[in-house]
Amino acid sequence: MTQPTKRKACLSRILAVILLCTLLVGLSPTGIAEHVLAESASSAANKMSNSSTHSPLLVSQAGTVAASKVHYTNKVAVLMYHDFKEDAKAKAISLKVFQEQLTTLTKNGFKFISMDEFKAFKLNKGKVPANAVLLTFDDGYEDFYTVAYPYLKEKKIPATNFLIVRSTDTGNPGGNPHITWDQMREMLPNKMSFYSHTYNQHFYIPNGGPALTSRYPAASGKRAETLAEYRKRVTDDLSLANKRIRDELGTKTDVFSYPYGAYNKETQTISAKVGHKLDVTIKPGLNGPAGTLVYRINAGYKSISGNDLITKIKGYTK
Ligand SMILES: [Zn+2]
Repeated sequence: MTQPTKRKACLSRILAVILLCTLLVGLSPTGIAEHVLAESASSAANKMSNSSTHSPLLVSQAGTVAASKVHYTNKVAVLMYHDFKEDAKAKAISLKVFQEQLTTLTKNGFKFISMDEFKAFKLNKGKVPANAVLLTFDDGYEDFYTVAYPYLKEKKIPATNFLIVRSTDTGNPGGNPHITWDQMREMLPNKMSFYSHTYNQHFYIPNGGPALTSRYPAASGKRAETLAEYRKRVTDDLSLANKRIRDELGTKTDVFSYPYGAYNKETQTISAKVGHKLDVTIKPGLNGPAGTLVYRINAGYKSISGNDLITKIKGYTK
């Protein structure tokens, strides 16, 4: 190549980069996708220096920016999971489907936040990114550690588990194994957090409703539980769960998840009294900055792909 030809080629590349940047800035809807924009522009510029066909590249890069859509802002989708089952016939999610969900969410611009960020958003006017998602698990099963955690740690995705604390203390012999305090201590520095799902009130009262919202009815010569006794039972249980978590992990206990999502005025009052600032339910919906009740979207089953989940989440933005 002669000197003038080289200079000409160089000049045309510079012009193309300027044109690309102008085009990208012009196409950015509100300036929200700044990070994506910066990445697209730099990778486009890199590719461009090795490419002689500029026009198709401009189209494909512009497409990338346009596709990074904002589905919602100033809201958080809190997803709910329980355990994992690899058996195809079982309803509970498998690791493969879980990974596919998270990959698809990431590709579509969703951002995973931690419980601390969520608490700051709900309680202290903290900001959250557009399309914010918080992963939560209920019950404290051991497969949170053996199945979910290695993947979450690798991808640096935060998650919270709500423990049935007694099952952790006893190991739940004869039942689904639960995570141990040692496993939790290992997970804490890697964006995992743990809160109460009661100490031992995760059951239905015989001939009654969920233990947290129901009083024991009169049965076989025994009188019914009084309101004072009910309040004491619930208060003592929630206090013990929090004490155990603080003793073992030294972490805050200001978030609580209702077993079966069941709550009433009494439980809300007691929950606040024992220091909970947020009460997590299973009512579906997205979470804005106001209120102490947390809504969740159930994502923990095998038949819900990443795209299904996105459709479900977006359904609550209307
Ligand atoms: Zn539960």
